[in-house]
Amino acid sequence: MNLILLGPPGAGKGTQAKRLELRHGLTQISTGDMLRAEVAAGSAIGAEAKQIMESGALVPDALIISMIEGRIRQPDLRCGFILDGFPRTAAQAEALDAMLARLGKSLDAVILLRVDDSALVERIAGRFTCARCGAAYHDRFHPPHVPGICDICGSAEFTRRADDRAETVAARLLAYQSQTAPILPHYQASGRLHEVDGMAEMDAVTAEIEAVLAEVKTRGELIESR
Ligand code: AMP
Repeated sequence: MNLILLGPPGAGKGTQAKRLELRHGLTQISTGDMLRAEVAAGSAIGAEAKQIMESGALVPDALIISMIEGRIRQPDLRCGFILDGFPRTAAQAEALDAMLARLGKSLDAVILLRVDDSALVERIAGRFTCARCGAAYHDRFHPPHVPGICDICGSAEFTRRADDRAETVAARLLAYQSQTAPILPHYQASGRLHEVDGMAEMDAVTAEIEAVLAEVKTRGELIESR
């Protein structure tokens, strides 16, 4: 099964993608994580993307599209993929359609996590991760059980994303509204868009996504059996 998780920054795409990976053997493809890895590695792509990411703007389509094309061709995606953070513009959505058609792959569902704008700044500005194992935390909603110590690996070192500062979050939300939200009708028109209430508790959001996937699977099986 191949999926796209859409929604503004802070909607919970990364968290839900990781859960779907564990439950369904799908592979999360996060363009944000790929870019952060390029920045950390000091590569040419990282050098081009770093300042743009820190400003909250989107990096150029051509760079992202070639990065995704390389990733989607790799052989580890047999059980399917979850695109997290891609596509984010009309050009990226069109390039993805063309890419999938060329590779003989299909897109089963696009899941939109709907979240109120007012909740997003607090959600994003409070998040941090363990510097050693990557476990995700939040100052208010999910602090470590022992303050300053990672629940999973016991490390006392944590990191915060440079673009999670409140000043940058506004620019990221604007990029979502002006460049990403306009691609929703493209997926709605083909009947692949499913909306989920991203304001609900994390487990309830997962349950709603699972219900969508079950429906999509049943529909696919019905079509195949005709
Ligand atoms: P994310 O981790 O998905 O919130 O992405 C962090 C930042 O990486 C974004 O604010 C953009 O600067 C950049 N980025 C990630 N994915 C894309 C994309 N599909 N198109 C353009 N820029 C992206």
